Formats: sequence, C-alpha cells, structure tokens
Amino acid sequence: MQRLALFDLDNTLVDLDQAFAIWAIEFSDRYQLGCEAVERIIALGQGRPHREMFFAEVRERFALAESVDELWRNYRQRMPHLVYCSPEVKDGLSRLRVSGWKVAIVTNGMADNQMGKIQQTGLSEIVDALALSGIEGTRKPGRMLFEIAAKRCGMSLTAEGGGGWMIGDSPIADVAGGRAAGLRTIWIDRGVWPDHDQEADHVVIDVLQAIEILAGS
Ligand SMILES: [Mg+2]
Repeated sequence: MQRLALFDLDNTLVDLDQAFAIWAIEFSDRYQLGCEAVERIIALGQGRPHREMFFAEVRERFALAESVDELWRNYRQRMPHLVYCSPEVKDGLSRLRVSGWKVAIVTNGMADNQMGKIQQTGLSEIVDALALSGIEGTRKPGRMLFEIAAKRCGMSLTAEGGGGWMIGDSPIADVAGGRAAGLRTIWIDRGVWPDHDQEADHVVIDVLQAIEILAGS
C-alpha cells in the first residue's frame, strides 16, 4: 500500500472543542450574556455542527441584533486564532514525511475558516497537500475530496497498489468515507459517539497514537 496519510483537521490535528470553548467565553463577554450562557452556547454548538444553524439559534435565543451572516463571519475570523496544533503533532507529521510518507489534510468547512486555521497553526508549511470542501465544492464522506488530496500528493486511490490511510474523529465523514474510498482508517475516539458503530482498522484516543501506528506500519 502506498504511503499516503490523509488527516482530518478539526478535533484531529487541532482541538476544535477547546478552541470553541474559549470562543464561547469571549462571545458571552462581548454580548454580556452572563456566565451561564457559556455552557448553553457550548451545548448548542455540540448539537449543531453546521454553524449557520447554530448561529440562527444563538441569535434567536439571546435576541442579538447582528445577522446570522455577521455572527458567523466574525466567528470564522476569530477561530483561526484560537485553535492550536501541538509541536508534538507537527513533529510527528514531519517525521512521517521524512520517512517517505505523503501527508495531506482533508477537511469539511468554509474556505476562510479552515484555511485560516491551517495557516495560523503552521500546518500549511508541514503537509504536502490540502483538500478543503469549501474550496473544492465536494464534502466528506463523498469519495471525491479524498481523491483530490491523493492526486495533489502525486498518488491515486484507484491505481494498482493505491489506497492509503484516513485518520479522523468522525465515524461517518472520516471512517465510513475513508473506507468507501478504499482507504484504511484510524478513528480518534473522543468519547462523543458512544453508541456509534464504526469499522476502523484502528481506534486511538489521539492523533499522536495514530501517527505512531503509521510510522510502525
Ligand atoms: Mg473532525
């Protein structure tokens, strides 16, 4: 199997939940919503991964004057500055590349938000390629975004000896999507999908463990 490692971004290479919690505190301060609002905003965010729906609900619940578009745009401008990628993770990706792996990020989300996060964390300078749904117009778990990433690494998922690995926290977008695209998969189990069936080749608790598995394969 070719040495191709495709990584999800949010809650895989970066801790989005942690960044979201910081953002919720800032947001609550800015609109003077009070301490108890932070937990409610975080709970709303967890149940609504699509941010347009999330901001529609937040706007209504807290009777905010700004439009959903404005609230969401402000969020996308701020989030790239709140996410963090640990030096250990960046080192791990660099070591994979030194040992002959091609490494890419395959992520769903708006182009400005996702690209901002990839640039601010320095990940853009480490990986071989990017495939962002907001730029390409196609999303995981669909096969096409994985194909685009592989091609940008000079590889193909369909060629003889093709394949590779997909590593991510979503049992649907990353694991089921990766499997359907002919990839082996490593699922990062963050404990938020307790009853979800998934058929990953490996289950780990963080991306460093996933990188170790790849390095030893
Ligand atoms: Mg994710």
